[in-house]
Amino acid sequence: MSKKLVILGGGESGVGAAILARKQGYEVFLSDGGLLKEQYRNELLQNNIAFEEGKHSEEKVLAADEIMKSPGIPEKNELVKKIRAKAIPVISEIELAYRYKSESRIIAITGSNGKSTTTSLIYHICKTGGMDCALVGNIGYSFAKQVAEDPKPLYVAEISSFQLDDIKDFRPDVAVLLNITEDHLDRYEYKFENYIRSKFNITKNQRPEDTFIYCADDPVITQFMKENPLHSNLLPFSMYQELPKGAYIKDRMMILAVDSDKLETSVYDFALKGKHNQYNSMAAGLAGATVGIRKEKIREAVENFEGLEHRMEHVLTVRGVDFINDSKATNVNSTWYALESMTQPVILILGGVDKGNDYSALLDLVKEKVKAIVCLGVDNRKIHEAFGKHVEVMVNTAGAREAVHAAFHLANKGDVVLLSPACASFDLFRNYEDRGRQFIEAVREL
Ligand code: ADP
Repeated sequence: MSKKLVILGGGESGVGAAILARKQGYEVFLSDGGLLKEQYRNELLQNNIAFEEGKHSEEKVLAADEIMKSPGIPEKNELVKKIRAKAIPVISEIELAYRYKSESRIIAITGSNGKSTTTSLIYHICKTGGMDCALVGNIGYSFAKQVAEDPKPLYVAEISSFQLDDIKDFRPDVAVLLNITEDHLDRYEYKFENYIRSKFNITKNQRPEDTFIYCADDPVITQFMKENPLHSNLLPFSMYQELPKGAYIKDRMMILAVDSDKLETSVYDFALKGKHNQYNSMAAGLAGATVGIRKEKIREAVENFEGLEHRMEHVLTVRGVDFINDSKATNVNSTWYALESMTQPVILILGGVDKGNDYSALLDLVKEKVKAIVCLGVDNRKIHEAFGKHVEVMVNTAGAREAVHAAFHLANKGDVVLLSPACASFDLFRNYEDRGRQFIEAVREL
């Protein structure tokens, strides 16, 4: 008899998993408590997959042999609690994709910040090097669906901590851990150690022939590794230490040392600017070298990569004022890196839905670089409390156009207006893309 797989959640990963599972002969039932997007409903119908939406039929769900839980569904969900109580095995989409990827290799990228940028850059390096590969995961295209419909010899996968929570055998050939800072703690019982452990799950099944690329400057990562030695082949990267094996930056040169052959590239030639992107570029270069991309191709790729929307994206220069869209900066750490990379006086657009932000980490950079803060949120109290005494001008706005006008009014020629909110966007916008797009539109109208 075929195995009964129930899939909870009908978004990109749930529907992708359903398609793969169906193809592999499972009896599949997908259940979503909300309504499905039309595109996904159609895909399920076309593939003859049984599903329900707007409810979960408990008896059907609890009759499963195995459950695939979409990453958006938290443990505190009542149905998930019942599933756990009944001890039905729960897996994530990447576990299912892994099960059927056969001989193909996986480069898996995780971290609190920089995942999408680094994943895209690694993909770009692999493409430049002539590899037949696919970009999958959190970045927008289901890993499982790719495996079902268009298998490739190499997958470059962006992996969130939620995807790593329910893995069993998932074993990437190359795992990349960029950094760990507090984020999503609401999903981890407000325990930082649970979140750290979940990120390190990426190495859980690795063997000595697999590679682990990590940031040696991140104290959370190095501390964990001291307490929990790993079996993988280790390739660290650092901005401060010369490493015999790995990547580092010295005198503004990035040095990649994976085998005897070293690559040296000037960071001035990197397409992606800012210190955070030097980290991302080191990690990506190491991943490329590990899967055998030639050094010249890595250099070419880090120099001509075009970057992603809403991440330190230069929008326009209007009467000498630069406008930068970093709407994707939804936590304090990413805004820190955005500010750190600024070389002109800054009008900072900050605010939105705060996930428990501690703004004090930004204070030194704000004092040094920020002329004015334009708050863009429903509740801006914490921002005023944190910076009111240190920044001459603070204004409140409640929409992208109003914020852009206020910022432009406060800016002089040679200044930069930086949208890097350190917060989620849901109070005033649909999501960070919507916030970024409205910002760009308002800038274009100036
Ligand atoms: P993720 O996919 O992890 O959310 P992105 O690549 O989309 O990361 O970048 C999100 C934000 O984080 C951007 O606004 C960027 O400025 C900042 N960022 C990018 N890389 C790093 C890094 N290595 N460390 C800290 N912040 C970063």
